[in-house]
Amino acid sequence: MASHSPAPDRDAAAVVGRLRRTFATRRTAAPDWRRGQLTALRSLLTDHSDELLTALATDLGKGPGEAYRTEIGFTVHEIDHTLARLDDWLAPRPAELPDRLLPATAQVVREPLGVVLVIAPWNYPLQLALAPLVGALAAGNCAVVKPSELAPATSAAMARLLPRYLDGDAVAVVEGAVPETTALLAERFDHIFYTGNGTVGRIVMTAAARHLTPVTLELGGKSPVVLDPGTDLAAAARRIVTGKFLNAGQTCVAPDYVLAIGDTAHAIEPHLAEAVREAYGADPAGADEYGRIVNERHFDRVTALLGSGRTVIGGAHDRATRYLAPTVLADVTPDSPVMQEEIFGPVLPIVPVPDLDAAIAFINGRDKPLALYAFTASDATKHRLLTETSSGALTFGLPVAHLTAPGLPFGGVGESGMGRYHGEYSLDTFSHTKAVLDKPLG
Ligand code: NAD
Repeated sequence: MASHSPAPDRDAAAVVGRLRRTFATRRTAAPDWRRGQLTALRSLLTDHSDELLTALATDLGKGPGEAYRTEIGFTVHEIDHTLARLDDWLAPRPAELPDRLLPATAQVVREPLGVVLVIAPWNYPLQLALAPLVGALAAGNCAVVKPSELAPATSAAMARLLPRYLDGDAVAVVEGAVPETTALLAERFDHIFYTGNGTVGRIVMTAAARHLTPVTLELGGKSPVVLDPGTDLAAAARRIVTGKFLNAGQTCVAPDYVLAIGDTAHAIEPHLAEAVREAYGADPAGADEYGRIVNERHFDRVTALLGSGRTVIGGAHDRATRYLAPTVLADVTPDSPVMQEEIFGPVLPIVPVPDLDAAIAFINGRDKPLALYAFTASDATKHRLLTETSSGALTFGLPVAHLTAPGLPFGGVGESGMGRYHGEYSLDTFSHTKAVLDKPLG
């Protein structure tokens, strides 16, 4: 660990130039360097977990248990998973050759891309900056990390700590908002990894196109929960509530709305209310592990959606503290305001549909979701959802869980994004997969 604290990185061209010179030395390609950086990043997270938890509480009112689990612990786990398998992942893989090319050998080799840019959002400001960085470092790249300006305490903590632990000529943190990001996007990168909304995703992709830079876009959208008759509604409600109200609903893969088939629409109401009380008590404002809305703009946006249905539970809100109670709305129609955009807040609409055909048509009539969830006891229903819909992920029985399994690719499709990461998928994203063929002469 270096002990000096270098000046903050501000000049985009100078930062990228410095990282390019480092990459040209090839030192970041060495497996030892990669392991060393990942180990150092792990130490940063464990040495400074208190400081990081304080920053996350400042930015988003995250309780320490949830913040540790979803931000620090999540990233530590991603590092451990990667370190345990990196040698195996980096080993050249022999490839088959057609008879007409024999005798010869062929291999598939992963090589680093160069200098990559990671642009992170505010909702999991630590995880969504550092989990992509794990992949970038594992793949042997130099990286610029641009944290979200809407989580300023976490952004400042990363800008302060990363240079103290990581190779400062290979990893840079550039803080800032639109002007700073725009300046970065004018530079040539070898990959851009963006997490956030689709409008900015288009800006990022347009900027990348000028340099023919590949992009990963981790975007959002409305992730439905299909509720099938015959499922255990009390258990389903508990799991929907856990996934929905995590981080006060500000999770890209949060269940956005319940698509309730037949009489489940009414039958689920008391179970959801009970599950909210069980998780957050009679007054969620006092619950240790219930977060706050990130800022007033989002608070005003989400509270404006409260009139979209009949309130089953919740609705209380306080602008001064940006508190909005976990809220369930029933009898919501598809044309209501809450169904026109990703909610990204603690409001859960129940939308009734008559049958599975209608549920599938509803899903297919809209943008492809980042995640599709379903609670069903029927294998036939599972099969139909798997084969007749498209989404970044499909999870039965436990919303949000797929995100925590590094063996599964994480990413969207269509409007919910392009590309994937976590575990070995991150290594693929941040590597070039090179074909190597060796044919003897004669
Ligand atoms: P945000 O406002 O923090 O923006 C994300 C990043 O884009 C920030 O670093 C910001 O500085 C930068 N940015 C903003 N405007 C820009 C511009 N004009 N030009 C260049 N850069 C700009 O976060 P957000 O977009 O509000 O994040 C919420 C969205 O992100 C939701 O739609 C959510 O679903 C999605 N999301 C997706 C994932 C995922 O993994 N797929 C994870 C988290 C959030």
